Amino acid sequence: MAYQLPEKLKQLTPYEPMQGEYPIRLDANESFLSPPDWLREEIGRAVAALDFHRYPDPYCTSLCEAYGRFLGVAPDRIAAGNGSDELIGLIVNFFLNHGEALAVTKPEFSMYAFYAQTGGFPVVVFEKKAEASAESGLRDFLFDPKALISFVKREKARVLFLSNPCNPTSAAVSRKDILTVAKGLEDCLVVVDEAYMDFWEGSVLGDIDSHDNLLVLKTCSKAYGMAAIRLGFAIGNPVLINALKAAKSPYNVNAMTQAAGCVLFSHEAYLRDCIARIKDSRDRLGKALAALARRTEEIVYACDTHANFVFLELLDAAKVFEGLCKKGIAVRLMGNRLRLTAGSEEENAALLAALEELTSARLGTGRG
Ligand SMILES: *Cc1c(COP(=O)(O)O)cnc(C)c1O
Repeated sequence: MAYQLPEKLKQLTPYEPMQGEYPIRLDANESFLSPPDWLREEIGRAVAALDFHRYPDPYCTSLCEAYGRFLGVAPDRIAAGNGSDELIGLIVNFFLNHGEALAVTKPEFSMYAFYAQTGGFPVVVFEKKAEASAESGLRDFLFDPKALISFVKREKARVLFLSNPCNPTSAAVSRKDILTVAKGLEDCLVVVDEAYMDFWEGSVLGDIDSHDNLLVLKTCSKAYGMAAIRLGFAIGNPVLINALKAAKSPYNVNAMTQAAGCVLFSHEAYLRDCIARIKDSRDRLGKALAALARRTEEIVYACDTHANFVFLELLDAAKVFEGLCKKGIAVRLMGNRLRLTAGSEEENAALLAALEELTSARLGTGRG
Protein backbone atom coordinates (compact mmCIF):
# COMPACT_ATOMS: atom_id res chain seq x y z
CA MET A 1 0.00 0.00 0.00
CA ALA A 2 2.47 2.66 -1.12
CA TYR A 3 0.28 4.66 -3.44
CA GLN A 4 -0.38 8.17 -2.18
CA LEU A 5 -3.23 10.33 -3.42
CA PRO A 6 -2.15 13.76 -4.63
CA GLU A 7 -2.39 16.39 -1.89
CA LYS A 8 -5.25 18.33 -3.49
CA LEU A 9 -7.33 15.16 -3.61
CA LYS A 10 -6.48 13.97 -0.10
CA GLN A 11 -8.16 17.03 1.34
CA LEU A 12 -11.44 16.55 -0.55
CA THR A 13 -14.57 14.80 0.68
CA PRO A 14 -17.54 13.83 -1.49
CA TYR A 15 -20.28 16.48 -1.74
CA GLU A 16 -22.94 15.63 0.82
CA PRO A 17 -26.38 17.09 0.47
CA MET A 18 -28.26 17.10 3.81
CA GLN A 19 -28.78 13.48 4.82
CA GLY A 20 -31.85 12.23 6.62
CA GLU A 21 -35.60 12.35 6.29
CA TYR A 22 -36.96 15.87 6.06
CA PRO A 23 -40.59 16.10 4.96
CA ILE A 24 -39.96 19.76 4.05
CA ARG A 25 -36.91 20.42 1.88
CA LEU A 26 -36.03 24.07 1.57
CA ASP A 27 -32.26 23.66 1.45
CA ALA A 28 -31.29 23.36 -2.22
CA ASN A 29 -33.25 26.10 -4.03
CA GLU A 30 -35.12 23.53 -6.08
CA SER A 31 -38.59 24.30 -7.43
CA PHE A 32 -41.42 23.20 -5.16
CA LEU A 33 -43.46 22.40 -8.28
CA SER A 34 -43.20 18.80 -9.39
CA PRO A 35 -43.91 18.30 -13.13
CA PRO A 36 -47.58 17.44 -13.84
CA ASP A 37 -48.61 14.03 -15.21
CA TRP A 38 -49.15 15.25 -18.77
CA LEU A 39 -45.55 16.50 -18.90
CA ARG A 40 -44.16 13.33 -17.32
CA GLU A 41 -46.03 11.25 -19.89
CA GLU A 42 -44.81 13.33 -22.81
CA ILE A 43 -41.20 13.06 -21.57
CA GLY A 44 -41.72 9.33 -21.04
CA ARG A 45 -42.84 8.85 -24.63
CA ALA A 46 -39.90 10.87 -25.97
CA VAL A 47 -37.44 8.84 -23.88
CA ALA A 48 -39.04 5.51 -24.90
CA ALA A 49 -38.52 6.38 -28.58
CA LEU A 50 -34.74 6.96 -28.24
CA ASP A 51 -32.09 4.98 -30.09
CA PHE A 52 -30.56 3.64 -26.91
CA HIS A 53 -27.79 1.76 -28.72
CA ARG A 54 -26.43 4.98 -30.25
CA TYR A 55 -24.42 7.79 -28.70
CA PRO A 56 -26.39 10.99 -28.23
CA ASP A 57 -26.00 14.13 -30.37
CA PRO A 58 -22.74 15.70 -29.08
CA TYR A 59 -23.94 19.21 -29.95
CA CYS A 60 -27.48 18.86 -28.54
CA THR A 61 -28.76 20.37 -31.80
CA SER A 62 -32.52 19.93 -31.27
CA LEU A 63 -32.23 20.84 -27.61
CA CYS A 64 -30.33 24.07 -28.29
CA GLU A 65 -32.88 24.96 -30.98
CA ALA A 66 -35.77 24.41 -28.57
CA TYR A 67 -34.04 26.34 -25.79
CA GLY A 68 -33.00 29.09 -28.22
CA ARG A 69 -36.63 29.54 -29.30
CA PHE A 70 -37.71 29.74 -25.68
CA LEU A 71 -34.98 32.28 -24.83
CA GLY A 72 -35.02 34.25 -28.06
CA VAL A 73 -31.35 33.46 -28.75
CA ALA A 74 -29.80 31.87 -31.88
CA PRO A 75 -28.82 28.21 -31.27
CA ASP A 76 -25.19 28.81 -32.33
CA ARG A 77 -24.88 31.00 -29.23
CA ILE A 78 -25.75 28.08 -26.91
CA ALA A 79 -23.80 25.12 -25.46
CA ALA A 80 -25.47 22.55 -23.21
CA GLY A 81 -23.90 20.94 -20.15
CA ASN A 82 -24.50 18.16 -17.65
CA GLY A 83 -25.92 20.77 -15.29
CA SER A 84 -24.40 24.24 -15.31
CA ASP A 85 -22.03 22.80 -12.74
CA GLU A 86 -20.18 20.92 -15.49
CA LEU A 87 -19.89 24.13 -17.50
CA ILE A 88 -18.48 26.01 -14.49
CA GLY A 89 -15.74 23.37 -14.16
CA LEU A 90 -14.96 23.54 -17.89
CA ILE A 91 -14.79 27.33 -17.94
CA VAL A 92 -12.49 27.54 -14.93
CA ASN A 93 -10.18 24.84 -16.24
CA PHE A 94 -10.01 25.89 -19.89
CA PHE A 95 -10.23 29.70 -19.80
CA LEU A 96 -7.41 30.11 -17.29
CA ASN A 97 -3.77 29.46 -18.13
CA HIS A 98 -1.51 27.93 -15.50
CA GLY A 99 -0.91 30.48 -12.72
CA GLU A 100 -3.75 32.84 -13.74
CA ALA A 101 -6.31 33.74 -11.09
CA LEU A 102 -10.05 33.34 -10.84
CA ALA A 103 -11.87 36.30 -9.27
CA VAL A 104 -15.01 35.79 -7.20
CA THR A 105 -16.99 37.92 -4.80
CA LYS A 106 -17.96 36.85 -1.28
CA PRO A 107 -20.52 35.65 -0.28
CA GLU A 108 -20.84 33.75 -3.56
CA PHE A 109 -21.74 30.32 -4.96
CA SER A 110 -18.93 28.06 -3.78
CA MET A 111 -18.43 25.92 -6.90
CA TYR A 112 -16.49 28.60 -8.81
CA ALA A 113 -13.69 28.66 -6.24
CA PHE A 114 -13.94 24.89 -5.78
CA TYR A 115 -13.06 24.17 -9.40
CA ALA A 116 -10.26 26.73 -9.35
CA GLN A 117 -8.75 25.20 -6.23
CA THR A 118 -8.92 21.64 -7.54
CA GLY A 119 -7.50 22.82 -10.86
CA GLY A 120 -4.61 24.50 -9.05
CA PHE A 121 -5.57 28.09 -9.98
CA PRO A 122 -5.27 30.96 -7.51
CA VAL A 123 -8.56 32.48 -6.31
CA VAL A 124 -8.88 36.17 -5.45
CA VAL A 125 -11.87 37.29 -3.39
CA PHE A 126 -13.73 40.61 -3.40
CA GLU A 127 -15.77 41.04 -0.21
CA LYS A 128 -19.35 42.33 -0.32
CA LYS A 129 -21.04 43.92 2.69
CA ALA A 130 -24.65 43.76 3.78
CA GLU A 131 -26.03 47.28 3.47
CA ALA A 132 -29.53 48.63 3.87
CA SER A 133 -31.20 48.82 0.46
CA ALA A 134 -32.48 52.29 -0.42
CA GLU A 135 -35.57 50.75 -2.02
CA SER A 136 -36.76 48.28 0.59
CA GLY A 137 -34.84 49.09 3.76
CA LEU A 138 -33.87 45.39 3.80
CA ARG A 139 -30.27 44.30 3.50
CA ASP A 140 -28.59 43.96 0.15
CA PHE A 141 -25.13 42.64 -0.69
CA LEU A 142 -24.26 44.96 -3.53
CA PHE A 143 -20.97 46.43 -4.70
CA ASP A 144 -19.54 49.32 -6.64
CA PRO A 145 -18.78 48.04 -10.16
CA LYS A 146 -15.79 50.38 -10.44
CA ALA A 147 -14.29 49.00 -7.23
CA LEU A 148 -14.73 45.45 -8.54
CA ILE A 149 -13.06 46.38 -11.84
CA SER A 150 -10.06 47.89 -10.02
CA PHE A 151 -9.80 44.83 -7.80
CA VAL A 152 -9.84 42.35 -10.70
CA LYS A 153 -7.31 44.43 -12.66
CA ARG A 154 -5.01 44.79 -9.67
CA GLU A 155 -5.12 41.04 -9.07
CA LYS A 156 -4.69 40.34 -12.80
CA ALA A 157 -7.50 37.78 -12.70
CA ARG A 158 -8.45 36.38 -16.11
CA VAL A 159 -11.88 34.97 -15.28
CA LEU A 160 -14.53 36.59 -13.07
CA PHE A 161 -17.61 34.68 -11.95
CA LEU A 162 -20.70 36.44 -10.60
CA SER A 163 -24.04 34.83 -9.85
CA ASN A 164 -26.82 37.32 -10.57
CA PRO A 165 -29.16 37.25 -8.71
CA CYS A 166 -26.59 36.00 -6.25
CA ASN A 167 -26.67 32.66 -4.48
CA PRO A 168 -26.61 32.84 -1.46
CA THR A 169 -27.38 36.55 -0.86
CA SER A 170 -30.33 36.85 -3.30
CA ALA A 171 -29.09 40.36 -4.20
CA ALA A 172 -29.35 41.42 -7.83
CA VAL A 173 -26.99 43.65 -9.76
CA SER A 174 -28.46 45.78 -12.54
CA ARG A 175 -27.80 44.93 -16.17
CA LYS A 176 -26.08 48.29 -16.49
CA ASP A 177 -23.61 47.49 -13.71
CA ILE A 178 -22.83 44.05 -15.14
CA LEU A 179 -22.11 45.63 -18.51
CA THR A 180 -19.90 48.26 -16.85
CA VAL A 181 -17.89 45.41 -15.32
CA ALA A 182 -17.66 43.51 -18.64
CA LYS A 183 -16.59 46.65 -20.51
CA GLY A 184 -14.09 47.62 -17.82
CA LEU A 185 -12.42 44.20 -17.89
CA GLU A 186 -11.48 43.70 -21.53
CA ASP A 187 -8.79 41.18 -20.69
CA CYS A 188 -10.93 39.03 -18.42
CA LEU A 189 -13.74 36.59 -19.17
CA VAL A 190 -16.84 37.73 -17.26
CA VAL A 191 -19.18 34.83 -16.50
CA VAL A 192 -22.63 35.84 -15.28
CA ASP A 193 -24.39 32.86 -13.73
CA GLU A 194 -28.09 33.63 -14.23
CA ALA A 195 -29.39 30.50 -12.48
CA TYR A 196 -32.02 32.70 -10.75
CA MET A 197 -32.61 35.36 -13.42
CA ASP A 198 -36.08 33.94 -14.16
CA PHE A 199 -37.12 35.50 -10.86
CA TRP A 200 -35.88 38.99 -11.68
CA GLU A 201 -35.23 41.17 -14.73
CA GLY A 202 -31.64 42.15 -15.33
CA SER A 203 -30.39 39.58 -17.82
CA VAL A 204 -27.44 40.37 -20.07
CA LEU A 205 -28.48 37.72 -22.61
CA GLY A 206 -29.22 40.46 -25.14
CA ASP A 207 -25.66 41.79 -24.78
CA ILE A 208 -23.60 38.70 -25.60
CA ASP A 209 -22.93 39.74 -29.21
CA SER A 210 -21.66 43.17 -28.29
CA HIS A 211 -19.15 41.82 -25.72
CA ASP A 212 -16.40 39.39 -26.66
CA ASN A 213 -15.74 38.51 -23.00
CA LEU A 214 -19.28 37.92 -21.71
CA LEU A 215 -20.63 34.44 -21.02
CA VAL A 216 -24.01 33.71 -19.40
CA LEU A 217 -24.94 30.50 -17.57
CA LYS A 218 -28.47 29.11 -17.13
CA THR A 219 -29.87 25.99 -15.51
CA CYS A 220 -33.03 23.87 -15.59
CA SER A 221 -32.57 23.03 -11.90
CA LYS A 222 -34.25 26.04 -10.30
CA ALA A 223 -37.07 27.86 -12.10
CA TYR A 224 -38.03 24.95 -14.38
CA GLY A 225 -38.27 22.26 -11.72
CA MET A 226 -35.92 19.84 -13.50
CA ALA A 227 -32.95 19.45 -11.15
CA ALA A 228 -33.07 15.68 -11.65
CA ILE A 229 -32.22 15.72 -15.36
CA ARG A 230 -28.96 17.71 -14.88
CA LEU A 231 -29.18 20.27 -17.65
CA GLY A 232 -27.55 23.67 -17.88
CA PHE A 233 -26.50 26.03 -20.65
CA ALA A 234 -23.80 28.52 -21.52
CA ILE A 235 -24.79 31.39 -23.81
CA GLY A 236 -22.28 33.68 -25.48
CA ASN A 237 -20.82 34.76 -28.80
CA PRO A 238 -19.85 31.94 -31.21
CA VAL A 239 -16.12 32.23 -30.43
CA LEU A 240 -16.71 31.50 -26.73
CA ILE A 241 -19.37 28.86 -27.40
CA ASN A 242 -17.24 27.01 -29.94
CA ALA A 243 -14.34 27.04 -27.48
CA LEU A 244 -16.56 25.49 -24.81
CA LYS A 245 -17.86 22.88 -27.24
CA ALA A 246 -14.26 21.98 -28.08
CA ALA A 247 -13.33 21.71 -24.40
CA LYS A 248 -16.26 19.57 -23.22
CA SER A 249 -16.36 15.77 -23.32
CA PRO A 250 -18.09 14.70 -26.54
CA TYR A 251 -21.29 13.20 -25.13
CA ASN A 252 -21.67 15.28 -22.00
CA VAL A 253 -25.47 15.54 -22.11
CA ASN A 254 -27.16 12.13 -22.27
CA ALA A 255 -29.96 11.38 -24.73
CA MET A 256 -32.66 11.12 -22.05
CA THR A 257 -31.85 14.57 -20.76
CA GLN A 258 -31.77 15.99 -24.28
CA ALA A 259 -35.19 14.46 -24.99
CA ALA A 260 -36.66 15.74 -21.73
CA GLY A 261 -35.26 19.21 -22.36
CA CYS A 262 -36.78 19.34 -25.88
CA VAL A 263 -40.20 18.47 -24.46
CA LEU A 264 -39.82 20.96 -21.61
CA PHE A 265 -38.95 23.95 -23.78
CA SER A 266 -41.83 23.25 -26.16
CA HIS A 267 -44.16 24.24 -23.28
CA GLU A 268 -43.44 27.90 -22.79
CA ALA A 269 -46.78 28.72 -21.17
CA TYR A 270 -46.26 25.97 -18.58
CA LEU A 271 -42.76 27.27 -17.76
CA ARG A 272 -43.98 30.88 -17.47
CA ASP A 273 -46.69 29.71 -15.11
CA CYS A 274 -44.15 27.84 -12.94
CA ILE A 275 -42.00 30.96 -12.72
CA ALA A 276 -44.98 33.13 -11.74
CA ARG A 277 -46.00 30.69 -9.00
CA ILE A 278 -42.48 30.50 -7.58
CA LYS A 279 -42.16 34.31 -7.63
CA ASP A 280 -45.44 34.59 -5.79
CA SER A 281 -44.22 32.17 -3.10
CA ARG A 282 -40.90 34.03 -2.88
CA ASP A 283 -42.69 37.39 -2.48
CA ARG A 284 -44.90 36.08 0.32
CA LEU A 285 -42.04 34.39 2.14
CA GLY A 286 -39.78 37.43 1.73
CA LYS A 287 -42.44 39.76 3.19
CA ALA A 288 -43.26 37.43 6.07
CA LEU A 289 -39.60 36.99 7.00
CA ALA A 290 -38.92 40.74 6.80
CA ALA A 291 -41.85 41.24 9.18
CA LEU A 292 -40.59 38.48 11.47
CA ALA A 293 -37.12 40.06 11.50
CA ARG A 294 -38.70 43.25 12.84
CA ARG A 295 -40.35 41.35 15.70
CA THR A 296 -37.37 39.43 17.03
CA GLU A 297 -33.85 40.33 18.04
CA GLU A 298 -32.78 36.80 17.06
CA ILE A 299 -32.91 37.72 13.38
CA VAL A 300 -30.25 40.35 12.68
CA TYR A 301 -31.53 41.08 9.19
CA ALA A 302 -33.38 39.62 6.22
CA CYS A 303 -32.12 40.29 2.70
CA ASP A 304 -34.18 41.79 -0.08
CA THR A 305 -34.79 38.75 -2.28
CA HIS A 306 -34.55 38.67 -6.07
CA ALA A 307 -34.37 34.86 -6.30
CA ASN A 308 -36.43 31.88 -5.05
CA PHE A 309 -34.96 31.94 -1.55
CA VAL A 310 -34.46 34.28 1.39
CA PHE A 311 -31.15 34.92 3.16
CA LEU A 312 -31.22 35.71 6.89
CA GLU A 313 -28.55 36.60 9.38
CA LEU A 314 -29.24 35.41 12.92
CA LEU A 315 -27.64 35.78 16.31
CA ASP A 316 -27.47 31.99 16.60
CA ALA A 317 -28.14 30.46 13.20
CA ALA A 318 -26.88 27.01 14.25
CA LYS A 319 -29.43 26.80 17.07
CA VAL A 320 -32.31 27.78 14.80
CA PHE A 321 -31.04 25.40 12.12
CA GLU A 322 -31.01 22.49 14.61
CA GLY A 323 -34.51 23.43 15.73
CA LEU A 324 -35.78 23.43 12.14
CA CYS A 325 -34.14 20.04 11.47
CA LYS A 326 -35.90 18.57 14.53
CA LYS A 327 -39.19 19.78 13.07
CA GLY A 328 -38.39 18.04 9.78
CA ILE A 329 -37.53 21.22 7.88
CA ALA A 330 -34.26 21.24 5.94
CA VAL A 331 -32.70 24.63 5.16
CA ARG A 332 -29.13 25.69 4.37
CA LEU A 333 -26.86 26.79 7.22
CA MET A 334 -23.99 29.07 6.20
CA GLY A 335 -22.05 30.39 9.16
CA ASN A 336 -24.34 32.77 11.06
CA ARG A 337 -26.82 32.82 8.19
CA LEU A 338 -29.62 30.67 6.84
CA ARG A 339 -30.72 30.33 3.24
CA LEU A 340 -34.38 29.37 2.99
CA THR A 341 -35.88 28.22 -0.30
CA ALA A 342 -39.41 29.42 -1.06
CA GLY A 343 -41.74 26.40 -0.95
CA SER A 344 -45.41 25.64 -1.36
CA GLU A 345 -47.94 27.59 0.68
CA GLU A 346 -48.05 24.82 3.29
CA GLU A 347 -44.26 24.53 3.45
CA ASN A 348 -43.80 28.27 3.87
CA ALA A 349 -46.45 28.33 6.60
CA ALA A 350 -44.72 25.48 8.47
CA LEU A 351 -41.36 27.22 8.11
CA LEU A 352 -42.71 30.53 9.39
CA ALA A 353 -44.47 28.94 12.36
CA ALA A 354 -41.28 27.07 13.27
CA LEU A 355 -39.14 30.21 12.94
CA GLU A 356 -41.57 32.23 15.08
CA GLU A 357 -41.27 29.64 17.80
CA LEU A 358 -37.49 29.18 17.54
CA THR A 359 -36.74 32.90 17.56
CA SER A 360 -39.40 33.51 20.24
CA ALA A 361 -40.97 36.19 18.10
CA ARG A 362 -44.24 37.52 19.47
CA LEU A 363 -46.49 40.02 17.82
CA GLY A 364 -45.94 43.45 19.30
CA THR A 365 -42.65 42.64 21.04
CA GLY A 366 -39.07 43.05 19.97
CA ARG A 367 -37.87 45.81 17.70
CA GLY A 368 -40.34 48.16 16.05
C1 LIG B 1 -27.99 25.78 -8.31
C2 LIG B 1 -26.95 26.60 -8.95
C3 LIG B 1 -26.20 26.12 -10.03
C4 LIG B 1 -26.21 24.66 -10.38
O1 LIG B 1 -26.97 24.38 -11.43
P1 LIG B 1 -27.00 22.91 -12.03
O2 LIG B 1 -27.44 23.19 -13.42
O3 LIG B 1 -27.97 22.14 -11.22
O4 LIG B 1 -25.61 22.32 -11.99
C5 LIG B 1 -25.33 26.97 -10.67
N1 LIG B 1 -25.15 28.22 -10.23
C6 LIG B 1 -25.81 28.71 -9.18
C7 LIG B 1 -25.57 30.12 -8.73
C8 LIG B 1 -26.72 27.91 -8.51
O5 LIG B 1 -27.33 28.37 -7.42
